[in-house]
Amino acid sequence: MSRRLHGSVLSDPVTVAGEPPLSVFAYDQVQLLPGLLREQFDHNHDLFLHLNEDALLKPFREREGMPAPGPNMGGWYDNAEDFSPPANFHAFIPGHSFGQYLSGLARAYAATGSQPTREKIHRLVRAFGETVEPEGKFYRGYHLPAYTYDKTSCGLIDAHEFALCPDALDVHWRVTQAVLPYLPEKALSRAEQRLRPHGMVADTWDETYTLPENFFLAYRRSGKKEYRDLAVRFIEQDYFGPLADGQNVLPGEHAYSHVNALSSAMQAYLVLGDEKYLSAARNGLQFVHEQSYATGGWGPDEAFVPPGKGLLNDSLGTTHASFETPCGSYGHFKITRYLLRTTRDSHYGDSMERVLYNAIAGATPILADGTTFYYSDYNNSARKVHYKDKWPCCSGTFAQLSADYGISSYYRSGDGVYVNLFVPSRLTWSPNSTPCTLTQTTEYPRQETTQLAFSLTRPETFTVYLRIPAWAGAKTNVSVNGRRAESPAEPGKFLPLQRTWKDGDRVEIEFEMPLRVEAIDDKNPRSVALVRGPLALFAVSEVPPGLTRAHLLTASRSSSDDWTVRTASGDLTFRPFASIMDEHYRLYLRVES
Ligand SMILES: [Zn+2]
Repeated sequence: MSRRLHGSVLSDPVTVAGEPPLSVFAYDQVQLLPGLLREQFDHNHDLFLHLNEDALLKPFREREGMPAPGPNMGGWYDNAEDFSPPANFHAFIPGHSFGQYLSGLARAYAATGSQPTREKIHRLVRAFGETVEPEGKFYRGYHLPAYTYDKTSCGLIDAHEFALCPDALDVHWRVTQAVLPYLPEKALSRAEQRLRPHGMVADTWDETYTLPENFFLAYRRSGKKEYRDLAVRFIEQDYFGPLADGQNVLPGEHAYSHVNALSSAMQAYLVLGDEKYLSAARNGLQFVHEQSYATGGWGPDEAFVPPGKGLLNDSLGTTHASFETPCGSYGHFKITRYLLRTTRDSHYGDSMERVLYNAIAGATPILADGTTFYYSDYNNSARKVHYKDKWPCCSGTFAQLSADYGISSYYRSGDGVYVNLFVPSRLTWSPNSTPCTLTQTTEYPRQETTQLAFSLTRPETFTVYLRIPAWAGAKTNVSVNGRRAESPAEPGKFLPLQRTWKDGDRVEIEFEMPLRVEAIDDKNPRSVALVRGPLALFAVSEVPPGLTRAHLLTASRSSSDDWTVRTASGDLTFRPFASIMDEHYRLYLRVES
């Protein structure tokens, strides 16, 4: 595989068992155009570009006994002695998210070509490298060595791949040698960690089972077989084996890290070629889907619940920590991207966009002091709030995810291009060496249409595959240059448009977005959410008595964002998550019939 990046081409030095039939475009081939996603990307890029470098490096320098100037970042990031769960999470995981910020910046550089961003990445990698010494002092007495190493690893791989940072792979090798004495002989579940001698409870929270993905990537980038061996060593067979056999082993497990681990299964499948890991990833995500909220979010209190007991419904009354949104969305995008590319099954795109519009699109911006949106709240009395601690995990994944919006939107196939997300964007590529630009203009999902405009230097034959979501109504219509497409738009499939495209060609999709009512689980058929197309609608006014499903299905648009249901006992207003500010809201309503 090779990736075009600002004129240079990087190639993997190893051959792997297989490549997915769909590949991602280089970051700079997909530009987000003005809109909410572009705003999130720009905000995160700007915030991390201006973060104090001494502050970022401080925990590493301090733990190595080096001079450590600059301010403390605060929150989870500091190196201090007062961490004492569950009361005090200050200094929980010193320097944990450094690699994620590096990764977010490297991807942002790849998307924008911003030289100040590239220079900052190079400075950070060089200065970080100076803190890595063979005895691995940093990891001595560290509560979650695999957790932090995994993020550092990702950041260095991305700095090498996307910011062409020459030192990054050498630093990666050295930091790997530094952490190895502190890692167990294999991936350990939390239950296994609890059974081993340990200090405080946080010592049982490490995530060795997420390591293989980045070890495989390090192997692919560097060609060093040692990384492949490490990847194989940390594949959690007790997790993937049962999943591959169709056993749901998710209940009780930590939610985000176990969804993230499914991406390790995908790298294991791609590098080693064993179908078992593909089955594990597919079945694992299917089990997640079966216990997701109507938003696509999952994991109340960061855990999977035993299915079939109505526990998801119980969570609406017991917790406000309903979905770990930036991390969960990042993991969800990553696994649905792998599976969509591998299977070409459009349902993975449907799943990705559900989480996009109902979860991460409604996350409030990270503030300059590290104040971060963490949990989406689906409690029956819910509000948007910031997380109690600064610079948590979600501040790192948000920066990575917002840089990935572009590459998640389009994929290249041998015969053309797949259009997966309907977002304002511009794709530039060269099918059969013909320079081509596809500009997508849309206010989807607020509006039901999207337009694709093609610009080519000469006519060229290729296929454009459009994702027709499974929820799409029978009136969904695709037209090319104003004429209805010959093949019908079949919900739950990609619609192929094969033709000789020429400059000025236009495609328009008009989606029929029927309203539907979704019960939270089988045990609670009267606890329902109102959904329209990809959008869950949240009630933001007093719920009138005697509400029924039939009432909900009469909702009509009352402003650009709001939907209203009129009943004899009062009106009820609904709003999508991204438009909710400080007002109280609720996702699930009790219906009489
Ligand atoms: Zn998080």
